[in-house]
Amino acid sequence: MNKTKVVKFGGSSLADSNQFKKVAAIVKADPTRRFVVASAPGKRFSDDVKITDMLYRCYDKAAKGSDFSKEFADIENRFNSIIAELGLDFSLEEEFRHIKNSFAHRAGRDYAASRGEYLNSMILANYLGFEFLDPAGFVFFDESGVFDLNKTLEALTPKLDETQNAVIPGFYGSMPNDTIKTFSRGGSDVTGSIVARAADAELYENWTDVSGFLICDPRIVEDPEPITTITYRELRELAYMGATVLHEDAIFPVRSVGIPINIKNTNHPEDPGTMIVAETADSSKHIITGIAGKKGFSVIQIEKDMMNSEVGFGRNVLRSLEKNGLCFEHMPSGIDTMSVIVATDALVGKERAILDEINFRVHPDKLEIENNLALIAVVGRGMRKQRGTAGKLFSALAEARVNVKMIDQGSSELNIIIGVEEEDFETATKAIYEAFVK
Ligand code: ADP
Ligand code: ASP
Ligand code: MG
Repeated sequence: MNKTKVVKFGGSSLADSNQFKKVAAIVKADPTRRFVVASAPGKRFSDDVKITDMLYRCYDKAAKGSDFSKEFADIENRFNSIIAELGLDFSLEEEFRHIKNSFAHRAGRDYAASRGEYLNSMILANYLGFEFLDPAGFVFFDESGVFDLNKTLEALTPKLDETQNAVIPGFYGSMPNDTIKTFSRGGSDVTGSIVARAADAELYENWTDVSGFLICDPRIVEDPEPITTITYRELRELAYMGATVLHEDAIFPVRSVGIPINIKNTNHPEDPGTMIVAETADSSKHIITGIAGKKGFSVIQIEKDMMNSEVGFGRNVLRSLEKNGLCFEHMPSGIDTMSVIVATDALVGKERAILDEINFRVHPDKLEIENNLALIAVVGRGMRKQRGTAGKLFSALAEARVNVKMIDQGSSELNIIIGVEEEDFETATKAIYEAFVK
């Protein structure tokens, strides 16, 4: 471990020249902030379009052979206005020409999307006077498109050792055949984590537009309290269930070596934000640490008398999903009932095949699919010790007249997952927040 911090700035932190100025002030305020991972410019106002989405759209036109010059010019203009407003003696014209030409030659959708972080990082490197480091040469995926940590560390660690300061684009790396590949959306968080690991950093600061991980989504509950400290495991549960502040895969590279992550607000750098750590002796202020949820799930309900004594019943049900290439999210079961929760968009078009397969394999008494389910995860290391958490949760939901359609308590006792009708999602989230936090 050495005195190095890796700092990642998200799209909203780098959306325009004014945000660039805040970022530079933050980086310069602490000389141990040696490596900066940058996203593409995000939204400047609520119905603005992220550069990444503009690039996807532009490339889709190019790939169809349509004229994409207007879309491309709009992208150039956003970068050019940042350069002009910062008064930089620097031009991306050569890069634009090359990228436009690559679009016309169908260089790939991932390549196209990655150019947002690439160009933005070039501007930031110039503005900060830092080196620009292209992750195409240091962040690697294997043949099947899975991120290759070992190969990446082998190349990136020595490079960072010999580099004093650098800006590194987030979101992408390269395949064994040298083509560009991106992580999934929000993936600059993952790059930040990889760089922190390679640099053996003491801290990974993830700068965004909120003062830390909030107990629940600020778009559902007004001004929720921030979480002071959260463990990697709690965070992963919340991130997976839709708390998208940090990409759910961003904890893996740092977790095994215990580098903490600090979520910070670029617009309020003085706020302490949230510390994400391996273990903490800190009990959280409330019984629960956080609440997160997502819409868009379906339940396959299976009923059969005495299913519990039928050897291989569960396996046969799951085989039916497997045969149709479907993963399941949860599988709460009773003596004669079993529910399998799946993402609706993965199920669409396969309903008939799956029902036929289950019927054939296990001959249930009753079998149906229900759609429009939302899942809500209530997560907290404090729930283990505290009796009556579930009781409190269900009475809050009953009082709010929310019908609970499914309950699943994780074996780690770290979370309780409930299923509700999609139309009850916001009401249920608010009711849980009121019951545990207010
Ligand atoms: P960035 O562009 O910095 O990567 P993101 O948009 O990916 O930022 O993530 C920050 C956003 O996540 C916030 O603006 C907020 O709207 C949303 N969000 C959802 N759930 C939460 C939560 N529990 N706590 C904080 N922010 C949340
Ligand atoms: N720009 C990419 C996206 O919008 C990656 C990121 O911002 O993390 O998903
Ligand atoms: Mg993000």
